Amino acid sequence: MRWLILLLSLLLPGWAEAQPSTYRQTSAVLAHYADVAGMKLDSPAFRTPEPSLTRQDAMLEFLDELTGESRHARLGSLGRSTERRDIPVVYLTAEGLDDPAAIHRLGRPVIWLMGQQHGNEPAGGEAMLALASALSRGELAPLLSKITVVIVPRVNVDGAEADKRVLASGADGNRDHLLLSQPEVRALHAAMQALPPDVVFDHHEFSVAWRWVEKFNGLQGSDVMILEATNPSIPNELSEIARGLYRPAFEAAIKKQGLSSFDYVTTDPVLADKRISLGGTAPGIARNTFGLRGAVSYLIETRGVGIGLQSYQRRVSTHYVLAKAALEVSAADPEGLLRRVAQARAAAAADRSDLIISHDQGEREVDLPLINAESGAPMPTPVRLIDSRDIRPVDVRARPAGYLVLHATSDVAARLALNEVRVREVAAPVALSVEAYNVARQQTRKSRESINPDQSVRVQIKRKTLDVPAGTLFVPMTQPAAGIVAAALEPDSPGSYLAAGVIPMASDEAEAPVYRVMDAAGLTLR
Ligand SMILES: [Zn+2]
Repeated sequence: MRWLILLLSLLLPGWAEAQPSTYRQTSAVLAHYADVAGMKLDSPAFRTPEPSLTRQDAMLEFLDELTGESRHARLGSLGRSTERRDIPVVYLTAEGLDDPAAIHRLGRPVIWLMGQQHGNEPAGGEAMLALASALSRGELAPLLSKITVVIVPRVNVDGAEADKRVLASGADGNRDHLLLSQPEVRALHAAMQALPPDVVFDHHEFSVAWRWVEKFNGLQGSDVMILEATNPSIPNELSEIARGLYRPAFEAAIKKQGLSSFDYVTTDPVLADKRISLGGTAPGIARNTFGLRGAVSYLIETRGVGIGLQSYQRRVSTHYVLAKAALEVSAADPEGLLRRVAQARAAAAADRSDLIISHDQGEREVDLPLINAESGAPMPTPVRLIDSRDIRPVDVRARPAGYLVLHATSDVAARLALNEVRVREVAAPVALSVEAYNVARQQTRKSRESINPDQSVRVQIKRKTLDVPAGTLFVPMTQPAAGIVAAALEPDSPGSYLAAGVIPMASDEAEAPVYRVMDAAGLTLR
């Protein structure tokens, strides 16, 4: 067999990479991760005695059948992936609507759930199919008189087919939500532009063995790891809804099913670094981007990467149980939820506090709930946690009234609009006092996640009088998605449009074609 694998790897580059390197858990460990009792998961994987990965055609067939016979579910398409696969979306309303404008007019909270941004994390995608079934013809259908649900079961359809994390382009789509350079991510945001989310749940899986064994000699023990948006520009009110409404609902559901949970943590590839980190603050991570545009946002990850389909029923059930809890608590007081989200958005639009451009994070000791790799016995391990909820501002600057953009204006406007940002245009030429950026490039850190590079740009700010031509793009900060605006347009914000090359700048230019407007009273806008 070994020679055959070698031969195939030589003949078909990419074949070896596509083969999941499966970690073999002992039967003693597996005994701790038995099926969740009493679950009725209606999805393709559980229609056979032994679950299997659901292929693209089986997913489409299932959704066709489901939406064909349901009064509530309508099947749509986000568009096509890089490899031309269809990316399905399911709209679920009591009325069975599929027109985004008509759905918006229902006035109910709009809750988006998505699975499999990473193709090798199948349990979240499978749970989305079971959830679509339960909402359209099962136990959850009554919720649709209170809430609207939109499900994208599989964002990364190409990666899922190849059992690979990344998109067919090789990029990590989960880091592309500010930049919007990938067709799959752009297509998702275009659908969200037509029907903006109030709440977003993003379903993933995390590695069981991998660096956890290499660094700490144990396996990740938690069934599920959870984290809300963590970025200094997320409106406080949104974080309060996340932590005060959804997290307690998750924990109650987890406890009821005898599952275990922890905050979502990761650890650096460098083996000598024995610290762990809460999920990061980068604005382009889906979890954070949705928060910055004014939605409550959660990442939900089950214990599943690198173990094939072991404990698959439990993994899919865990996603299902948490999604169900989130939908139920949303439906318990839909007007209250909408009111609080609206208050959060209004507060973001009215915010005049300084922008935090860069920051350090606090560290603290925690017990990481690992398990013994042989016996599965609990092995709580004291570690240093880098805490993305504990922000220490480093570079801070006054919040402008808005930004002027002189280059690539239609592209910039289109990308921002996909994240719910409203833009204006200068109607009459004017000489205006602005703050300009002098830019110095520095080394970018390359990694698999470098689609949204860390701060690759340093700036110095100087005042000047700028001749602003008519037609210049003006992006006001007095709007709910102000956090998106600053993340995209402050050149030294991680993954900014200037750093990523969306706003082009010649190498011999020193001044960025982006300007801070502290007082917009002199501008005539249309
Ligand atoms: Zn993932």
